[in-house]
Amino acid sequence: MPTAWLSLGANIGDPRAQLAEAVQRIDQNPDITVVSQSSVLTTKPWGKTDQPDFANMAIAVETTLDPIDLLDGLLGIELAMGRVRKEVWGPRLIDIDIIAYERVQLKTDRLTLPHPHAHERDFVTDPLSEIAPEVTEWVIATAARP
Ligand code: ADP
Ligand code: MG
Repeated sequence: MPTAWLSLGANIGDPRAQLAEAVQRIDQNPDITVVSQSSVLTTKPWGKTDQPDFANMAIAVETTLDPIDLLDGLLGIELAMGRVRKEVWGPRLIDIDIIAYERVQLKTDRLTLPHPHAHERDFVTDPLSEIAPEVTEWVIATAARP
């Protein structure tokens, strides 16, 4: 079964509780199984600095879904948890991004793989390297390529 690596972040309300709830909801999807989890790190906001610190973590999942269906499932969980999309880089209740799906490289309107900014974000690479150092290396090498 394909493996994907996800990055979770939150900085409104109780960020660690929201990460835990998101992991639980992901695992409850019948087509997705959580197979490993990093620790939760507290990180400084990126891009827009006048907002609370974030809690970030990475998880690995096994899934029968293709990448776009996985993205739709994750966006559905963000919505179910009450995420409202406002400003880019603004505070968020929950953000769930696909950092990598197997070694798939993809660039469409809705989904880029590996995630195009993961390689330049310590809050993604630090947790991800705890659970999948080889994937982190691949994401950095691939996403940084012009
Ligand atoms: P951010 O993740 O940068 O905070 P959003 O969560 O609002 O921003 O995502 C904006 C859009 O990014 C999503 O609706 C999705 O279509 C797109 N996107 C492109 N590549 C990815 C990816 N690898 N993982 C998650 N979303 C992605
Ligand atoms: Mg996102």
